[in-house]
Amino acid sequence: MLRTRSKSAALLAFATVLSASHGALAETLYLTAAHMIDTAAGKVIDNPAVLIEGDRIMAVGTQASLAAPKDARRIDLGGKTILPGLIDMHVHITARADQNGYESLAVTTAAEAISGVANAGTTLRAGFTTIRNVGAGGFSDIALRDSINRGETIGPRIIASGPAIGATGGHCDNNLLPESYHDVGEAVADGPVAIRAMVRRVHKFGADMIKFCATGGVLSKGDSVGGQQYTLEEMTALVSEAHMLGMRVAAHAHGASGIKDALRAGVDTIEHASLADDEAFALAKAHGAAFSMDIYNDDFILGEGEKMGILPESLEKERSIGLLQRQTFQRAVKAGVTMVFGTDAGVYPHGGNAKQFTKMVQWGMTPMQAIQAATITSAQVLGKDGNDIGQIAKGKIADIIGLDNNPTDNVKSLEQVSFVMKAGKIIENRPGL
Ligand SMILES: [Zn+2]
Repeated sequence: MLRTRSKSAALLAFATVLSASHGALAETLYLTAAHMIDTAAGKVIDNPAVLIEGDRIMAVGTQASLAAPKDARRIDLGGKTILPGLIDMHVHITARADQNGYESLAVTTAAEAISGVANAGTTLRAGFTTIRNVGAGGFSDIALRDSINRGETIGPRIIASGPAIGATGGHCDNNLLPESYHDVGEAVADGPVAIRAMVRRVHKFGADMIKFCATGGVLSKGDSVGGQQYTLEEMTALVSEAHMLGMRVAAHAHGASGIKDALRAGVDTIEHASLADDEAFALAKAHGAAFSMDIYNDDFILGEGEKMGILPESLEKERSIGLLQRQTFQRAVKAGVTMVFGTDAGVYPHGGNAKQFTKMVQWGMTPMQAIQAATITSAQVLGKDGNDIGQIAKGKIADIIGLDNNPTDNVKSLEQVSFVMKAGKIIENRPGL
C-alpha cells in the first residue's frame, strides 16, 4: 500500500513538472478498462489503468498497481478492451472506391482533397490513428496531412508520399488515353538521373516518404500485373536518393523479379508482394525489409469491382493473382518475413480497413500477430515516424482505441471500434454493447 502511494505521489510530481514545462496546464486522464493488449509482450493485461497527460502516456499499470492522481479526470471504459491506435501502411486517403477506369479522368486535385477530408474522419473513427498514404494526385495528401496537423481537419496522423514515381507506360503512369492527348502521370521518370531528380522534386513539395512502382499492377491499363517496370539500376538510384534525404521507400511490386530487385535495391517495404518466392522471403529477411500485403482487397474487387467501374482487364488481372497473393501471405508468415498491416483502402471504401484482420488470421496469423502487425510492427517499420506509436506504454503518444469485445478471442471485433483517442484527445466514445 505504502509503495503504491509513494509511486503515485512521485508520478504526480513528475506530471506537475511536465505540465509546468509545457507552460500550460494539460489535463490528466486516468483511463480504465477490462482488458488491454500489450503489443510489445504479446499479452492481454486484465484491469488496466493508463495515466495520460496532454498527448502522452505517463504511466501504465493495473488498477491495483497504479492509483489515480487526485486531480485526474477518470474515464472508465467498463468491459471494453483497449489497444494502441491502429496503423494502416497502405492507404489512398484521397481516393474513392467508385471512381475507376475512365471515370477517374474527371477527378480533379481539388475533388481528391475534399474526398480526403471526408475519408480521413471515417478512417480515424474506425480506429486507425496513423496511416501511410502511398500515392495521391497533386500532393493532395500532403495538404491533408498538414491540415490535420494544424487541427483544422479530423483525421489520422499521415505519413504521406505525394505522387507515386514510375516508368513511362507503367502502373504509376496514366495509360487510359491515346497519344494525341499527351497525358503523362505526374511522377513519371525514366533512367537513374531523371529518377533521382523526381525523388528530389517529390521531397521538395513535402513528401515524408517515396512510393514507386517496381512492377505492373491490377488497376492500370495496358501492363502485365507481374511484369518488372524499373531496372535494378533505376531502383538503386531511387532508393539511395530517398534514403540520403531521410525518406523511407515503399515499392509497389507483384511479380517475383521486380520484388527481388526492389529488395536488392534496399527498399523498406514491398507493397502487395503477390508472387514473392522463397528467394524473395530470404532477401526481405537479409535486408530487413517488410511486406505489406492487402489480402482483403480481392474480395471487394471481385465482388463489387464491376459495379465500381473497374475495367474488365483489371478484373481479369485480379482473378489471376488474388488467391496466389493469399497463399504467398501464408508462406511469408511461415518463413518469418516481417509483416505490416496494409490494406489499399481507397480501392475499397475507407473505414473498412479492419476487415483485413479476419483474412490475416484465416491465412496463417494468430489474432495477436495480426494486431501486432497493425501496431508495434508497423510502427517499427515507419522508423522515426513510428518511434512514439504502436504501444500503450510510458512516454508514447496517447493513441488508444477501445473495442466492445476482446480481439484475441475474435479478431472480427476490430471492425467495431467504440472508443478512439488520438494524441490524448477523445474522438469517439460510444457506450459498450
Ligand atoms: Zn495502392
